[in-house]
Amino acid sequence: MVDSSIIQMAPSIKCRHVAVIGAGAAGLVAARELRREGHSVVVFERQNQVGGTWIYTDHVEQDPLSVDPTRPIVHSSVYHSLRTNLPRECMGFIDFPFVIRPGKSRDPRRFPSHGEVVAYLQDFAEEFAVEEMIRFETTVERVSPAEESDGEGGITKWRIEFTEKEEKVRRQELYDAVVVCNGHYIEPRLADIPGISSWPGKEMHSHNYRIPEPFKEQVVVLIGSSASAVDISRDIAGVAKEVHVASWSNAADTFIKQNGHTNLWVHSMIERVHEDGSVVFQNGKTILAHVIMHCTGYKYHFPFLETNGSVTVNDNCVGPLYKHIFSPAFAPSLSFVGITWKVLPFHLFELQSKWIAGVLSGRITLPSKEDMMVEIKTEYATLEAQGIPKRYTHCLGISQFEYFDGLASQCGCSGTEKWRKEMCLTSFMRVMKHPETYRDEWEDHHLVSQAYQDFSLYSS
Ligand code: FAD
Repeated sequence: MVDSSIIQMAPSIKCRHVAVIGAGAAGLVAARELRREGHSVVVFERQNQVGGTWIYTDHVEQDPLSVDPTRPIVHSSVYHSLRTNLPRECMGFIDFPFVIRPGKSRDPRRFPSHGEVVAYLQDFAEEFAVEEMIRFETTVERVSPAEESDGEGGITKWRIEFTEKEEKVRRQELYDAVVVCNGHYIEPRLADIPGISSWPGKEMHSHNYRIPEPFKEQVVVLIGSSASAVDISRDIAGVAKEVHVASWSNAADTFIKQNGHTNLWVHSMIERVHEDGSVVFQNGKTILAHVIMHCTGYKYHFPFLETNGSVTVNDNCVGPLYKHIFSPAFAPSLSFVGITWKVLPFHLFELQSKWIAGVLSGRITLPSKEDMMVEIKTEYATLEAQGIPKRYTHCLGISQFEYFDGLASQCGCSGTEKWRKEMCLTSFMRVMKHPETYRDEWEDHHLVSQAYQDFSLYSS
């Protein structure tokens, strides 16, 4: 199809040759926005289809904790029963709503399964002819600044080294800019547990969880308090003997039996584990457990990126990055989509991508490198003064809407719709308050109808 939003390039607007790494939701919308702006785009994707982390697979990594750096990577982190934790209306891209598509949707539910999200992303790729920009089964091995520059004193060229399919030989190409969209749910973060080296049970990370059956009749301890721990604990409770959820965010005396379950308890954090298989919680309770599953999130990881120390990951803060996107040292030729968390992911990707595309073409101007650094340092200092650890630098939560509106005004597009903001906030609260029912019962019918009024603008 012809994308009618493609900008007619004024002579002063620059067309760049841009490499996008990854064809998950972020890479797909980045590619669309870059092409709309007039850039030429190549998307490198190591899998054989679009969808990224949403592509379910039975396969898990051989190392259940995923700590071996030489392990073959299984990209997906979704489990078999996974349904979205956001309603489809607020999850989708602005001008390609995540609605039920006659003849296309496999799961019409408001909080659908992972397969429906993949189908939506495939539809998006087809609608905007994104696939023609993608090189599948092509892994980016190394990204480094090339010595050549474009002669304008601005953008450094980037050398992309990659391998195709089973080939062992690396090839390389030069690009004016790189947009990193490699996803952040494959490199597990683990909890420190005193005594763990001599504990005899099985340890694993939720990255390698797929189905509950292997936990039949077992006593399982999950560590974590976010969506994965909430979902997986309930999935496993259907077959396990006992399920215990431990979390740092719970008060030290926490010990709660979960309503609606006979075998599911929430505790404070694990204090220590012992050689006899016991697990002691800070609340003083002790159990004998077979499995400890870390539902403790992930670390940013850019194994291919070589910037000579200009971009580093320090206590899970990627930096320095201006507005969580541009590396001042290389701006605007190196950018990242999707670094922030506790956000509406697809909406974030779309707005960040529009901004990157406009900055690369010169339609939108960035502050000087010095001014970007001043802003970043001020932001770091503010977090430090508030006692917020570095690893929360990219956590937006409620401030995401101000961030989105800032991006939208830079791009000259309308900001986040009022209904989307309200729906998102309502959903975040309901996940924690009604973990058993929030996907099938809701009260925000007025927001749903406002959303569908807007969607009628985009229906073909
Ligand atoms: P990914 O989807 O991970 O895509 C990255 C792509 O980059 C992959 O296809 C990968 O193969 C490719 N890649 C990586 N490295 C290379 C390389 N070196 N060379 C070539 N290709 C490479 N979001 C929601 O909006 N709603 C939800 O309900 C929701 N639930 C979630 C549940 C779980 C368990 C998880 C893990 C995440 C959930 N998310 C949810 C967040 C989700 O991650 C984002 O919605 C989004 O799909 C992430 O997209 P991405 O493109 O950033 O990353």
